[in-house]
Amino acid sequence: MTGFREAVVDLGAIAANVAHLRTVIGTPHLMAVVKANAYGHGALPVARTALAAGADWLGVADVEEALQLRAGGIDAPILAWLHDPDVDFGAAISQDIDLGLSSARQLRQAADAAATLGRTASVQFKLETGLNRNGVHEPDWADVFALAAGFERAGLLRVRGLFSHLSNASPADDTDAVGRFERGVRLAADAGLTPNLIHLASTAAALRLPAARFSMVRIGIGLYGLSPFDDQDSHDLGLVPAMTLRGRVAAVRRVAAGAGVSYDYLWRAPEDGNLALVPLGYADGVPRQASGAAAVRIGGRTHPIVGRIAMDQFVVSVGQVDVAVGDEVVLFGDPATGAPSATDWADAAGTINYEIVTRIGHRVPRSYRQPGEAAQSGTEG
Ligand SMILES: *Cc1c(COP(=O)(O)O)cnc(C)c1O
Repeated sequence: MTGFREAVVDLGAIAANVAHLRTVIGTPHLMAVVKANAYGHGALPVARTALAAGADWLGVADVEEALQLRAGGIDAPILAWLHDPDVDFGAAISQDIDLGLSSARQLRQAADAAATLGRTASVQFKLETGLNRNGVHEPDWADVFALAAGFERAGLLRVRGLFSHLSNASPADDTDAVGRFERGVRLAADAGLTPNLIHLASTAAALRLPAARFSMVRIGIGLYGLSPFDDQDSHDLGLVPAMTLRGRVAAVRRVAAGAGVSYDYLWRAPEDGNLALVPLGYADGVPRQASGAAAVRIGGRTHPIVGRIAMDQFVVSVGQVDVAVGDEVVLFGDPATGAPSATDWADAAGTINYEIVTRIGHRVPRSYRQPGEAAQSGTEG
C-alpha cells in the first residue's frame, strides 16, 4: 500500500552496496558516511544496516549527529569533523566519539576537554590538501603535530588517524592532493605520531583512484546506491539505489486543448487530455527547478510533469491514459524497475543526485524495507 507521500528505503540495497563496495575496494576499513540523516535516508536504520553489512566506522559532520547515533544505541566507532567554534568536546569524548580536528585551536579544545574529564580523547587530523575548506593548513602541520605529540605524552589524547578530502576537480588535481597528503603522513611520523587510520577517498576516489585508498575509505553516496560520476550510473557500478520516493494520485481531471496548468500557466494542454495531481512539492524536496523537465512513473508508464512544481503538489500530463485517484506515483527509485532515477531528477533540476535525496523533507515519512523483504508494490512496467 502506497502512502500519500513516502520515501521507502530498501535496507537490503544498502547492505548489498556495502558488501559490493568492500569487495571491489578492499581496504581494511570502510566508513559509512551517515551525515545529514544519512543523506535523507534515516541515520539510525542506515547506520545499523551498514555496520551489519561490514562497515566498521561511521562518519558524520558534527558532534550532535554523532551523539544522536550513540543515543540510538550505536556503539561502533564514529568520527565527526565539522565543529561549532564553541563546541564542548566533553560530551563527544565521554561518548567515545573520535574528533576530526582542523586547527591548533581545536586541538587545544580537545585536550582541555579531555583534561577536565580525566579521559583520553581519540582524535584524527584533517589535513588541508587543496579543497580549502577546513583541515590543518600545510604550513602549520609540523607545529600542530608537535603539539599533539606533547598532549599524547601527557595522556590527554591519542592521534588515531589522519585524513583529508579530495576536490574531484580532475585526476591530476586529485593525484596532486594525494602527494600532499602523503607528505603530511610522513611529517606526522617524523613528529612521533603513530596513527593507524589513514583515509582520503570518498566514493568517487575509492572507486577510481586506488592510490587514494590507504587504510580506509569514507563511503557516502555509494552506500545509497547512487553514482558520483556523470559517465557511469548505479547499475554500471554494481550499486542499487536505496530510496524510492512515491505518493498517490490525489486528483484527476480532463482538460480541453489550451487549458493552462499551475502557477503562471507555464504549460498549456496541446490537446484534450488527462491530468493527474501528485501531492508532493518543493516543501517535500521536489525541486521547483525541475518544473516542466522531470517525469514520474504511474501504472508502468512514464509521464511528464507539466507546469510549475508548487510547494505541496505538481501536475502530470497523462494524455489519453486513464489514471485513477489513489494510483501509485513513483517520482524516483531504482531504474531497474522502470522508475526515473534520483540522477534523472538532478539533471532536470541542474543539480546532483546527492541534493535530490538529502533534501527530501520532514513531511515525507520514511518507511523501511528490511534486507530480504520483497517490494510490496509494483513499480515495474
Ligand atoms: C560527505 C563526505 C564524504 C562522503 O562523500 P561521498 O561522495 O558521498 O562518498 C566523505 N568524506 C567527507 C569529509 C565528507 O564530508
